[in-house]
Amino acid sequence: MAVVVDLIEKLVVEIVDVRRVVRCPHCGFKTARVHDRRRLLVHDLPTGGRPTELRWLRRRFVCGECSERSWEDHPEIVLGRRTHVTRRLARQLVRDVNAMSIREVARRHDLPWHYIMALTSSWSERVALDRRRRRCRILLIDETSLRRGHRYVTVVINGDTGETLGIVAHRNTAALSGILLAQGHRWMRGVKVVVSDGSVPYRSAIGTHLGHATHVLDRFHVARWFAAGMIEVRRRSQRIGEHGSRPAFEPEIFRSRYLQLTRLDQLRDHRIESLGKVLQGPARTRSSMADAPTPVRHPPRPRQRRGQPGSRRLHRDL
Ligand SMILES: [Zn+2]
Repeated sequence: MAVVVDLIEKLVVEIVDVRRVVRCPHCGFKTARVHDRRRLLVHDLPTGGRPTELRWLRRRFVCGECSERSWEDHPEIVLGRRTHVTRRLARQLVRDVNAMSIREVARRHDLPWHYIMALTSSWSERVALDRRRRRCRILLIDETSLRRGHRYVTVVINGDTGETLGIVAHRNTAALSGILLAQGHRWMRGVKVVVSDGSVPYRSAIGTHLGHATHVLDRFHVARWFAAGMIEVRRRSQRIGEHGSRPAFEPEIFRSRYLQLTRLDQLRDHRIESLGKVLQGPARTRSSMADAPTPVRHPPRPRQRRGQPGSRRLHRDL
């Protein structure tokens, strides 16, 4: 090891590996015969704020057994195609990318943008692979849109750790089945509880691949279906006249629409009493309630999240 350049704006250090004997990667025999050497520029962490470069005098060995030649490796040096960095710098780059943009990281360390990008994506692939390999007892499945109202995706999360295991396009059976199958059968057997919104496509995929697990429907969706059913029945019940006639709605039922969607323990006594009257109401109301189909079978899609009377309040209450 020798300092080659020692300036305020730059430090260059020449390094060599002190191991005399290496193992031939072709046949596994040991060799100490150096064929030639070449200098390789390796970027390192700054030293006291000074950009630091290493000049690695990299040796090429020739094997006494199979006569193959091979360049040596070093566990602390990450070799790229053109850019090479020390492992500790690679770790710092990944940390920096978490805090700032790729462009800023590239500028700060004076490294090519493409290099930082490639390092980041290979790192995140490794992290994702590691996450997916781990056992998962509680699996959370949800749909979301990356931009509001656009392109739905299915998100799968490990409920024990809170880590995202995968995000795939669409919210259909094939999308969810794809993620589950990619995890492998052993991993799927390890899932004990699966939580979903209970939509038909998800239920179908869960039934096929995670039939052994307990399927829990999250209470947000259960409450939403219940509210949708409640609203549907009210709309049928409250109509007393034909379209266009006045009054069109039974005022008592119509006025109690928010009460109907409020949780019982949030209601004062007099409210419970007036709600009870509405629910017991005229016989017509009760029979049309009984006749109404159960809308729960067709859960509304999230577009309806807003705009339903009382639904916001209900969600807040939960
Ligand atoms: Zn060999």
